Amino acid sequence: MDKRTFLKNSGLLGLGLLGAATAPWLTSCAPANGAELPHNWMWFHAHMERTDEEWESILLTLKSAGITGILIGGGRPMLSRIIPMADKHGMDVHAWMWTLNRNGDQEALKHPDWYAVSRDGNSCFDVRPYVDYYQWVCPSKEEVYQHILQQVTELCGVPGLKGVHLDYVRYSDVILPEALQPVYNLVQDKEYPEFDFCYCPTCREKFKKAYGIDIQTVEDPTSLLEWRQYRYDSVTKLVNRLSKEVRQRNKLITAAVFPYPELARTICRQSWDEWHLDAVFPMLYQNFYNKPVEWISYATKKGITDTRGKVPLYAGLFLPELSGEDLKIAIDYSLEAGASGVAVFDYGSFSEAHQEAFKTALLERDTGK
Ligand SMILES: [Zn+2]
Repeated sequence: MDKRTFLKNSGLLGLGLLGAATAPWLTSCAPANGAELPHNWMWFHAHMERTDEEWESILLTLKSAGITGILIGGGRPMLSRIIPMADKHGMDVHAWMWTLNRNGDQEALKHPDWYAVSRDGNSCFDVRPYVDYYQWVCPSKEEVYQHILQQVTELCGVPGLKGVHLDYVRYSDVILPEALQPVYNLVQDKEYPEFDFCYCPTCREKFKKAYGIDIQTVEDPTSLLEWRQYRYDSVTKLVNRLSKEVRQRNKLITAAVFPYPELARTICRQSWDEWHLDAVFPMLYQNFYNKPVEWISYATKKGITDTRGKVPLYAGLFLPELSGEDLKIAIDYSLEAGASGVAVFDYGSFSEAHQEAFKTALLERDTGK
C-alpha cells in the first residue's frame, strides 16, 4: 500500500463534496469457486501488540458497520490469532502480502541478483527509487517466483484462511500519480531511466529470445511496444501461476491494484484485466490523481468494462482523505458504477463519521432503498 504511505507523507487534501446519491447494493459476480464474498472490506497492518480484547472490539465495530472482510498482514502469527476471532463473527480473513516489493525480506537479501535493475544500471538491492522501502525483485526470474510461491503456500496452510491478497504486484512506478510528483520534487513528463525497470540479464535474455531484439541496443526503449508488452506479461504470468496454485488449495486469490488497467499499465506495468483473480481491489484514491470524488465512479466503470464484469470489483477508498459525507458518496458512486462493494484503508483513520456512513449504506441495502 505504498500510495497510502505516500499520501500520508504528502499532506494532500481531498477534493470535492457532491450531492447525495443512493443505489442498490449490487453483487455483480462470484469468485471461481462460487464462494460468497463479503460486501465490504478493510485493510489492516498486523498490530500484534493489540490484545485479543482490543481485536474483539474492533471486529464488533466493523461488523456493526457491515464490514466483514479482513485483509491483514503479518503472516501466520497474526492470521492464527485473528482468524478464530473473525470466524466467530462470520467474518472472512484474507492474507495481505507484499509480492514484488520485498522490503526487509532477509531471504531475498541473500540473493542480490533477484533484484530489479533500472535502465541506468542500478539494482534495487542497493539503490532504491523514491523511498528506501522500495526493494523490488524481478518478476521474470524463476527463483523469485519460487520464493513468492513458497510464501503463498505457507499462507494457504493457515487453518481457516479464506484467501491470499496480493499487493505490490507490479513494477516500481515508472510515472508517479500526478499529485505525488511534487512530493518528490519530480516532473515525470516521460519515463526516466532511474525509474524504468527491469533491465537485468534475465529480462534482456528472455526479451531477446521472445522478440529477437537486444533491448540494450535500442536507442529509446520507452517507445518500443514489444518491450512494454514483455513487462506486462512478466507480471501477468507470475500472478496467473500463483493463481493456479492458490486455487488448487481451494483458497481465493485477490489483488490490490492501481485504479484501472490502462492507467495501471502506464504507471507501473500492471495489466490486471488479464489476471486470473477471484476479486480485484483497485485503489481509487482520487486525490493522488488530483481528481474529484466523481472519478471513483469513472474508474470503477473502466475496471468493470475491462474485466468484462467477470471479476467482483471492490472500490478501494482512502479514509484519511474522505469525510464521512464523502465516504457515503464514494460508496454510492462505487455501487452505482457496478462495484460489488468497497474496501477501506485503514482502521487507524476509521472515524465515527465513517462508521455512520457505512451504517447508512448498510441500512439502505437492507431496506432496498
Ligand atoms: Zn529483470
